[in-house]
Amino acid sequence: MKLVLASSNQGKLEELRHLLGDAGVELVAQSELGVTDADETAVTFVENALLKARHAAALTGLPALADDSGLCVDALNGAPGLYSARYSGVHGDAQANIDKLLHELRDVPEEARGAHFYCVLVWVRHADDPQPLIAEGEWRGRIAFERRGDGGHGYDPVFLDVERGQTAAEMPAELKNLLSHRGKALVELRRRLLTAL
Ligand code: IMP
Repeated sequence: MKLVLASSNQGKLEELRHLLGDAGVELVAQSELGVTDADETAVTFVENALLKARHAAALTGLPALADDSGLCVDALNGAPGLYSARYSGVHGDAQANIDKLLHELRDVPEEARGAHFYCVLVWVRHADDPQPLIAEGEWRGRIAFERRGDGGHGYDPVFLDVERGQTAAEMPAELKNLLSHRGKALVELRRRLLTAL
C-alpha cells in the first residue's frame, strides 16, 4: 500500500521507512507529490497532526501519515508545547529556543523543573476518515540548568533523563530512540498499522 508522509523532513521519512519496511507499506514524502506544508493552526498536537494528514490525503487521494511533537514544561503550564520549534520567535532556532527556556526557568529549583517530550502520529485512510489511527508517546525528564552533550537536535542538550543521569544530547541515537517519545509512538503506530492493514 502506498502512503503519503505529511512532512518534508527527510530524517523522518527515512526513520519511518525503516520502521514500516516489513508492513507492506510504501512511504512517499508529500513534497515528491507536489504537496506543500499545511498551516498548523490548531491548538493541540493531535489536531495539528490531523490537519496535516487530511491535507496530504485530500491533495493526493492517498492514505496519509502525519506527526506532531514538542516539549511541555510543568512550571510553564505545558509551554513551549505546540510552539516548541518557534519558542524564541524564529522557527527552528534551537539555540535561541534553549536560551529562552533557561531564562524562563532561571528561578525554578531542580525538583520543580519536570518536563516531558510528547509525540503523536496519525494515519488517515482518506481525507474524511472518521476513525483515524492515533499513536502517542511521552518521555518524562527534567530541564537541566545548562546544556550538556553534542548529539541530537532541538532541546536535547537541556532535556535530562533523570534515571540515566544523561541529557538526550549525551545519548547514543539507539538509546534515545528506545526511550524517546517518538520511538514509543512509532512502535505503537507500527503495532496498530500491522493489525489494521
Ligand atoms: P516537529 O514535530 O518536528 O515540528 O517538532 C517540534 C519541535 O519540538 C522541534 O522543532 C523541537 O524544538 C521540539 N522537539 C520535538 N522532539 C524533540 C526531540 O526529540 N528532541 C529535541 N527537541 C524536540
